[in-house]
Amino acid sequence: MVGMADRKTGVEGVDGGVGVTALLVAAARAIETHRHDALAQDVYAEHFVLAAPASAGWPVRIRQVPDGDADPLWGRFARYFGLRTRVLDDFLLESVRSGARQVVLLGAGLDTRAFRLDWPPGCVVFEIDREGVLAFKHEVLGGLSATPKAARVPIATDLRADWVAALTDAGFDPAAPSVWLAEGLFFYLPTVAETRIIDTVDRLTTGGSAFAYEVKLEKDLLAYRESRLYTSTKRQIGIDLLGLFDGEPRPDSVGDLAGKGWTTSVRTPFDFTRLHGRGPLPEQNDALEGNRWVFAHKRPV
Ligand code: SAM
Repeated sequence: MVGMADRKTGVEGVDGGVGVTALLVAAARAIETHRHDALAQDVYAEHFVLAAPASAGWPVRIRQVPDGDADPLWGRFARYFGLRTRVLDDFLLESVRSGARQVVLLGAGLDTRAFRLDWPPGCVVFEIDREGVLAFKHEVLGGLSATPKAARVPIATDLRADWVAALTDAGFDPAAPSVWLAEGLFFYLPTVAETRIIDTVDRLTTGGSAFAYEVKLEKDLLAYRESRLYTSTKRQIGIDLLGLFDGEPRPDSVGDLAGKGWTTSVRTPFDFTRLHGRGPLPEQNDALEGNRWVFAHKRPV
């Protein structure tokens, strides 16, 4: 039981705080997986939702949602996560096809890409998250006898602390190309931690490496507190996203990477909705308005 692991270790797991957001993404992926026009497939996602006390009663199929697609949380927001999953699946696979063999998932949560994507031979997937989250993931995937399709290395650490030694001790090689992902992570971290992560990724990467991450550009997050997305997430499952987000002004990570010799492309989720023909579109008082997906590539030296 993850709740027990939490009490034993004192580490916040999926049953509390930011960890529960990993369950929210898992529920969204479960719903997406079983749509007739699914953008991404994650057969493991529903098992996390069904196993955790914190997500008791959450839907794992859109037909379990009384308002279906009209539900702001399990309709539009879940579709957002489905789209994000697909776009970042494509990014990672493209990066390994271009030569990277090391994949680093920062704030991996209940991401099962190591198990569900077709990695080329020789790939290693490093998954960094807090101990409670990784322990829960291990327990659920172990119960399913899930087999990874790449070498998988979970690393339990806090991304606000110094995690470089943990990664290199686990076998990460800074001299070989790598691809990094921070999906749904930076909003929860203090500015200083985001800046340090950008610096660290730059320091640990060689030319030909790639990095995708998500940011929110809103200057005043609280201006969106009455948005349908935030109010339904709080009312329906008790997660106060605005309360979990770090409220500090965000650093210019894109400018920072560009200054370090990376090419960057900043896209809105809506760009990909249009590309794929499904996903969220802008709405009034839209909590997704400031979300940006950043794709960065380090120029070969
Ligand atoms: N990237 C995953 C995905 O998209 O499925 C999980 C996203 S979830 C919204 C955010 C994840 O970041 C959680 O699993 C949480 O435990 C992790 N996280 C947040 N703050 C962290 C920290 N300081 N150190 C390590 N992990 C952290």
